[in-house]
Amino acid sequence: MSKPTIAIVGRPNVGKSTLFNRIVGGRMAIVEDKPGVTRDRLYGNGSWLTHDFHVIDTGGIEIGDEPLLEKMRAQAEIAVDEADVILFLVDGRTGLTDADETVADLLRKSKKPVVVAVNKLDNYQQRELMYEFYALGLGDPYAISCAHGQGIGDLLDAVVAQFSDNEPINEADDAIRFALIGRPNVGKSSLVNTILGKERVIVSDLAGTTRDAIDTPFSRDGQEYVIVDTAGIRRRGRVYEKTEKYSVLRAQRSIEESDVVLVLINGEEGIIEQDKKIAGYAHEAGRAIVLVVNKWDAVEKDDKTMEKFRRKIREQFQFIDYAPIVFLSALTGSRVDQVLPVIRQVAENHSLRVQTSLLNDCIMDTIAMTPPPSDKGKRLKIFYATQVAVRPPMFVLFVNDPELLHFSYVRHIENRLRETFGFIGTPIKIVSRKKN
Ligand code: GDP
Ligand code: GDP
Repeated sequence: MSKPTIAIVGRPNVGKSTLFNRIVGGRMAIVEDKPGVTRDRLYGNGSWLTHDFHVIDTGGIEIGDEPLLEKMRAQAEIAVDEADVILFLVDGRTGLTDADETVADLLRKSKKPVVVAVNKLDNYQQRELMYEFYALGLGDPYAISCAHGQGIGDLLDAVVAQFSDNEPINEADDAIRFALIGRPNVGKSSLVNTILGKERVIVSDLAGTTRDAIDTPFSRDGQEYVIVDTAGIRRRGRVYEKTEKYSVLRAQRSIEESDVVLVLINGEEGIIEQDKKIAGYAHEAGRAIVLVVNKWDAVEKDDKTMEKFRRKIREQFQFIDYAPIVFLSALTGSRVDQVLPVIRQVAENHSLRVQTSLLNDCIMDTIAMTPPPSDKGKRLKIFYATQVAVRPPMFVLFVNDPELLHFSYVRHIENRLRETFGFIGTPIKIVSRKKN
């Protein structure tokens, strides 16, 4: 495991997702003035001072129609299982409630470090509302206002102080980290077993007992690999594990931790919305992607079935038209031997660096063959391009006026880069800068 994880726990409406967004920044989850709004983002990355960490908003994990206390219990359990430090958020204006005390009991028993934050103390006079929360028996509470951004710094100081000293454990740098994601029962655990072979299956006994045991390293044909979050794939028998939101959380977490993401689709049942959503997270996170159609053994087929399925995938997953598709059966082992070579190939493309001269030849050819359309009499000029990053490859185009670079032309350039340099399996990013 690389970075420590903070989980935010607390009753509905205390401000968990507001705090989550403050810490994670960037793309925001929806915050509305009513409880239970849908939110997509459960997992994100944050940093404070010299510390990088993951953050989980357990409030986004819907546990179904359970009574409030049961939901709170499940969310607290998730926090205990997943996090190194738990941030327990309460509402200073409402005051201490029974539900708060129930959660506090659970957290105290877990022996995980807990930091209590009392939210909605928007002004100085309200700060004294914090004192009643000493009764939780979880140490000094921190007065904060997520809405106004007050007290968050002191709170994060207290949280990162709880990280253990031996934070990051770096595996061999050239190991390819990959994750298997997909809805329950698609065959993730079976495919892990088939890839690893029988002797490795004992990992499951370790999995989930400590967070260090959740990744599985192995090597094949001289290449090191790490399967990310093997423990999450092999269930641990908790009630919440069957919920859809929990599987989204696991997927987001696995995606953050890996270079390559295998998106598993059930060949027997076809593509569902959830598959697209999960693939979307991987794409947005800039990971290399392989689409794996599993249970192909169970599909009744003729010589056109595969091609039809392939076309359907391309239609449904247009935003990842770069991802290779592998049809296989984790059960019979058919074509499973293709998986690691494909992973290796897309991982290479993901970290591919193109020589600047070759890159510029390609861009100039593109402009010569299809000049950028003019806009209100002004024409885009691209002076040169340079690659500024890998994983995924990112290119900067230096232009006369970035406003003139339209999405469709960026798309055109992307296609030409792909035709010229391959980039199979990896997203690529293209941005523009004004050159004076
Ligand atoms: P969650 O259900 O715990 O995730 O709570 P939300 O983050 O959705 O917040 C619930 C409501 O409390 C929203 O209307 C927020 O705008 C509001 N809220 C969050 N933080 C503060 C705060 O510091 N002060 C005040 N006054 N309102 C807040
Ligand atoms: P997970 O929830 O994604 O980890 O899925 P599992 O690996 O636990 O598999 C769920 C069920 O699908 C099990 O009953 C497996 O035996 C079955 N299964 C997995 N892979 C295949 C496959 O390739 N073909 C068939 N027919 N069944 C499979």
